[in-house]
Amino acid sequence: MKKIYLDNAATTSIRQEVIDEMIAVLQNDFGNPSSAHSYGRSAKTALETSRKSIAKMLGCAAQELIFTSNATEATNWILKSAVRDLKVERIITSKIEHHATLYTVNYLQKMYGIDVDFVKILPSGQIDITHLVELLSKKVKTLVTLMHVNNEIGTVLDIEKVGRICEQHHALFHCDTVQSVGKTEFNLNELPVDFIVASAHKFHGPKGAGFAFVKKTNVLQPMLYGGEQEKGLRAGTEAVHQVVGMSKALELSYENLNKERHYISDLKDYCLEQLKANFPEIRVNGEATFYNILNILLPFSEEKTAMILFNLDMKGIAVSRGSACQSGSVKPSHVLAEILPEDELKKPSLRISFGHNNTKSDIDELIEGLKGI
Ligand code: PLP
Repeated sequence: MKKIYLDNAATTSIRQEVIDEMIAVLQNDFGNPSSAHSYGRSAKTALETSRKSIAKMLGCAAQELIFTSNATEATNWILKSAVRDLKVERIITSKIEHHATLYTVNYLQKMYGIDVDFVKILPSGQIDITHLVELLSKKVKTLVTLMHVNNEIGTVLDIEKVGRICEQHHALFHCDTVQSVGKTEFNLNELPVDFIVASAHKFHGPKGAGFAFVKKTNVLQPMLYGGEQEKGLRAGTEAVHQVVGMSKALELSYENLNKERHYISDLKDYCLEQLKANFPEIRVNGEATFYNILNILLPFSEEKTAMILFNLDMKGIAVSRGSACQSGSVKPSHVLAEILPEDELKKPSLRISFGHNNTKSDIDELIEGLKGI
């Protein structure tokens, strides 16, 4: 059976060149980067060359990048250290953030008694900027954490605008850029953002590798103690092959960005066109969304909700749930819950997320699969 992967916001396949590069490191650069001999020096060089290369692609200094195992770890560290060490007393976030952010904020509220304010979400799925400005008028040491591209509906935050607002109000700004690093350009030197985070597996790199960007002006305290690795901020022997794989994956993402962005945007347009032609009552969840994510409300009965993913999976088609009661979950999506009325939340929504490996024929198969439900 031909298998079709349309869940690229969940994770992506690794590019062959990345695998080759990682294998070469595993075979040849197995030294401990902290060792002083030639094996260690060679591994250290591979690590630091990767850091410089990623920094160059994102327009920041190499010292501003701390390697982690993923974005969840990076976000946990940044938010916790901001409260513990930078004395943040209030966090402004939104109810459509990833759980990596929401659960950490919840922990900090319980543990340290910080204030938490949620900025309103507009029916389009965008952040209500006027409300953000209102919230920021309260004079208290604040960190704003809002994501760049929403992983469920694909809405996009104007980082530049939100960053300037934070700057004017002397608030720190953490932006979860997991869905956008490698998929759009960044110039972190110019962008008014204090922290961003990324996971390599979202841009065709390996799982188990990610990074935190921490602007020079912010001095965080260690997340792990026990060594001098990562400037003493994250002790423990570095996974050199993972980092090299991440760097290679990002390099290929940016090398191919214009071509792939164009190709993927066309696929998304084609998919929506075909969906509308076959299911005229279909609706898109979220407005002005990123080029690789399409979240749709299907004009199917509630009873069919639980079966859709299962039926598509039986046909070898992988997409993601967009709403309640799919794939065994009884909870509605916390993101859709913010933008859909109760009755529509019960209906089936699907997240289709595209990558450069997809073709129009994948989409035709998806449509056929949906027609069969
Ligand atoms: N933030 C966003 C927007 C995501 O999409 C994800 C993963 O789905 C994460 C954070 C967490 O990434 P990871 O599980 O790689 O740490």
